[in-house]
Amino acid sequence: TERTLVLLKPDAVARRLAGPILTRFEQKGLRIAALKLIQVTPELAKRHYAEHVQKPFYPMLESFITAGPTVALVLEGKSAISVVRGMMGPTNGRDAAPGTIRGDYGTSRQMNLVHGSDGPEAAAKEIAIYFQPHEVV
Ligand code: ATP
Ligand code: MG
Repeated sequence: TERTLVLLKPDAVARRLAGPILTRFEQKGLRIAALKLIQVTPELAKRHYAEHVQKPFYPMLESFITAGPTVALVLEGKSAISVVRGMMGPTNGRDAAPGTIRGDYGTSRQMNLVHGSDGPEAAAKEIAIYFQPHEVV
């Protein structure tokens, strides 16, 4: 059993897609281990996207991810990290196949609805960024 950190990004919340996307994860059989609605701050964005802070697109990414409320959650299940990444589809919605979250709901590279940790180390780091240990149940 694995845990992974998932974000329903501001575009998903603004478009009222938080429920439908969460439903897809639950229908897959993943269990919600933590969940909250937050406003991502620039400081939090820099921690979460530390690997991207120096990239040319980072200022746009920070503007986007701080533009409105985000749902942060921990999902738990067998191979949860890779299962969630597969359900999300590739970064750019234009390249994402129908049946994936990004493929079904968007065509943008930046406003791509969801985040999922890309490996066990990232998952541990990211869960700790968003949740205190007692908040994961
Ligand atoms: P995430 O980390 O959010 O789960 P990802 O792992 O598919 O997405 P990354 O390469 O880690 O993609 O990029 C992080 C986020 O930065 C992307 O989800 C997207 O919102 C944004 N992004 C990535 N590349 C670009 C780019 N070239 N231009 C604008 N935004 C980008
Ligand atoms: Mg990533």
